[in-house]
Amino acid sequence: MTTPTVHIVGAGLAGLAAGLTAAEAGLKVRLHEAAPRAGGRCRTYWDAQLDARIDNGNHLMMSGNTAVLDLVKRTGAQDQLVGPEIAVYPFIDLETGRRWTVKPGLDRLPLWVLDPARSVPGSYPPIFWKACACRSPGRTRPSLTSSADAARSGADSGSR
Ligand SMILES: Cc1cc2nc3c(=O)[nH]c(=O)nc-3n(C[C@H](O)[C@H](O)[C@H](O)COP(=O)(O)OP(=O)(O)OC[C@H]3O[C@@H](n4cnc5c(N)ncnc54)[C@H](O)[C@@H]3O)c2cc1C
Repeated sequence: MTTPTVHIVGAGLAGLAAGLTAAEAGLKVRLHEAAPRAGGRCRTYWDAQLDARIDNGNHLMMSGNTAVLDLVKRTGAQDQLVGPEIAVYPFIDLETGRRWTVKPGLDRLPLWVLDPARSVPGSYPPIFWKACACRSPGRTRPSLTSSADAARSGADSGSR
C-alpha cells in the first residue's frame, strides 16, 4: 500500500504544526507556501543593515501555552528558547511614548490584575470577567478593549 500524501497550503505556524503531525503519523507531506520563506505572520528575517536576525514582531509566549511549547519540544528547539524566570512584559506605546510593564509574577491567583502597578494601564477587573465569558458556551462574544486602547484611555483619563 502506498503512503498517502497530505497537501498543506501555507507554511505558517498552523501549516508547519499540521505538517509535523502528519509526518509523525507516517504520512508524506507536501507543504505549499506562496512566500519565499516559511513562518507566515510569525517569522524571523536577516536584516543586512543591522547584521542581525530580527523577529517580525513581538510574540508573547506564556508558559500556559502548552500547544506552542509542545511544538517547540517536538521540533527539538527547546535549547533555542530563552526567557525570563518570571513573567515581566515591558510595553511602549509609540504613539504617545507611554511605557508600562505587565508583571503577572508567579502568584497562583491572578491578583496582579487588581494591581495598577502590575497590569495594563487603564484596564480594570471587569474586562477579565468579560474575557472569561468569551470561553463559556452559549455566551455572545463581548467586545474587548485592546491593551493599546486600554492604555490610551488610561492616559486620556489620567487614571495613571
Ligand atoms: C507582529 C505580530 C505579533 C503577534 N503576536 C502574537 C502573540 O503575541 N501571541 C499570539 O498568540 N499570536 C500573535 N500573533 C499572531 C500569530 O503570529 C498568528 O496568529 C499566527 O502566526 C498565524 O499562523 P497561521 O499559520 O494560522 O497563519 P499565517 O501565519 O498567516 O500563515 C499562513 C501562510 O499561508 C501562506 N498562504 C496563504 N495563502 C496561500 C496560498 N494560496 N498558497 C500558498 N501559501 C499561502 C501565507 O503566505 C502564510 O505564510 C502576532 C502576529 C503578528 C503579525
